[in-house]
Amino acid sequence: MKIVFNDKFYNSSYIKDGASAPGRMEAIMESIHNDSKYQIVRNGRAEYSDIIRVHESQYIDSVRNNQALYDMALLSAGGAIKASQIAMESEPAFACIRPPGHHAHPSSGWGYCSFCNMAIALKKLRDEGRITSAFILDFDAHGGDGTIDCLSDWKEAIVLNPMAEGRNEYVALVESFVKKLNYVDIIAVNAGFDTYEKDVGRKLASFDFYRIGYVLKMFSKKMEHHRRFAILEGGYYLPDLGKNVLSFCQGFE
Ligand SMILES: [Zn+2]
Repeated sequence: MKIVFNDKFYNSSYIKDGASAPGRMEAIMESIHNDSKYQIVRNGRAEYSDIIRVHESQYIDSVRNNQALYDMALLSAGGAIKASQIAMESEPAFACIRPPGHHAHPSSGWGYCSFCNMAIALKKLRDEGRITSAFILDFDAHGGDGTIDCLSDWKEAIVLNPMAEGRNEYVALVESFVKKLNYVDIIAVNAGFDTYEKDVGRKLASFDFYRIGYVLKMFSKKMEHHRRFAILEGGYYLPDLGKNVLSFCQGFE
């Protein structure tokens, strides 16, 4: 399994918000570095031609008013693209990126999000003729309204934002939904770790991220193409963030 990352993501000065918090990327990458089986792959920036596929030019210009944020948002989208390309070679990938993207709409963004990293990666694959369908699981505590909006014109892109009271019901819901799915060309994950029991979502235990990753791995095996990737969204409880990402990766790999 490959971890997509760029050292520039350590820079937390591009904006002041929860996603750019100092120590957040460090918490994740420290856990990854301590586990020698993960290979780290460096990503570059997305091109303007990738972003314009999903976002309106006026909105892109408005993000560019903050050049540091714009540069980081392009790098983040580039990480999602890289992870999706690795997945196409039947190798699982996790992109440790920021800013997140699942609250970014075609002409607006909120909740720390600028560009919709997931839609940018998937629509690039689609427009290159490499996929025609996708399943997207968003397990962030907050619904991925931006992803849904950016993919609303693509009916073969199925998005699940699970809603369940307890942790076991949550994992069971993911499992039963996936079991009913027909064939899809790729499995994609908006991995938001703020669903964690000590984070704002107050729901999942660390092991539940493993369970979710495992369900998706088995689904991709059933598809026989093994194409799956995940990109970081939320997750703000830094003491356990690295452990939770690792737990997910262990189930997913
Ligand atoms: Zn969130």
